[in-house]
Amino acid sequence: MKYKRTAIIGIGLIGGSFALAAKRAGIVETVVGVARSDETLQAALEIGAADEVTTDPAQAVRGADLVYIAVPVGATRSVFEQIRDVLEPGALVTDAGSTKREVMQAAAELLPDQVAFIGGHPMAGSEQSGVRAARADLFEGAAYYLTPSEATTQDELDHMLALVRVLGARPDVKAADYHDRLMAATSHLPHLAAAALAGTVHRLTSGHKELGNFLGTGFTDTTRLAEGSPEIWRDILMSNADNLGDSVEELIAALQALAAALHEADSDACERLLIEARQARRRLTGR
Ligand code: NAP
Repeated sequence: MKYKRTAIIGIGLIGGSFALAAKRAGIVETVVGVARSDETLQAALEIGAADEVTTDPAQAVRGADLVYIAVPVGATRSVFEQIRDVLEPGALVTDAGSTKREVMQAAAELLPDQVAFIGGHPMAGSEQSGVRAARADLFEGAAYYLTPSEATTQDELDHMLALVRVLGARPDVKAADYHDRLMAATSHLPHLAAAALAGTVHRLTSGHKELGNFLGTGFTDTTRLAEGSPEIWRDILMSNADNLGDSVEELIAALQALAAALHEADSDACERLLIEARQARRRLTGR
């Protein structure tokens, strides 16, 4: 497997890490990085993630046999519109978006039949963002969901599986609907809860100047996700709003049950809810 020209549209944390991992594995020759800002493009060249850079997705994909899209999910449709007429027939096109239904729908509507599009979602990354946080080993050992379309051939899927394995990741093929439904509960709800918690703690403590020692690991552990890029997370939450709505209702019900135990000074109910929560966490994390 060797790609002569690889276009990475959105050369930030994930796109940049893909570039570094693919270069390290020796499977890509020329990498063309695309971003909006000169600052990102310059940084991509400096850290060796890209050999050439441009702000124009169409220019990047001309002649490319591999196209990796890692922009905020909400920008993917516009990227497809910009590249659809210049994609090389036979090119492998994939993305890294954290939700998959919208992207798969846009690909089916907009991309030509002569290219293979397979959706992807690496379960790697962090609350950091930007190409300067990119790492060649980011995908190592991580699960990497793939969402083929009905048009995907076995040969195309095999190529994609091999590409993911070369990154050191573990591919797992899933339907986009199923992926988004489960991610709402396992990833998007935790993010939303962390964001709400950070904001609530801030409001409750405003006016207190010396909070330093009061903010311990409990606060930092439970709110780490709130550091994530608001632009990236806005698009993730909005593109999975239907599934997330149900999950949020469940969370509100759980908080209400705890609040009721507190209001009623019902220590048995409070302890029962905490025991159930601990058992649930242990089951979920396989302990
Ligand atoms: P990031 O570090 O903020 O990088 C996003 C990149 O996309 C930036 O380089 C940005 O350019 C560029 N960009 C934004 N809009 C663009 C557009 N319309 N055209 C061209 N380039 C554009 O974000 P990320 O964390 O790598 O996330 C990228 C994708 O991976 C998202 O879809 C996200 O859902 C998914 N993902 C993220 C994680 C994670 O943990 N971070 C994990 C798995 C999947 P500028 O720098 O010039 O603004």
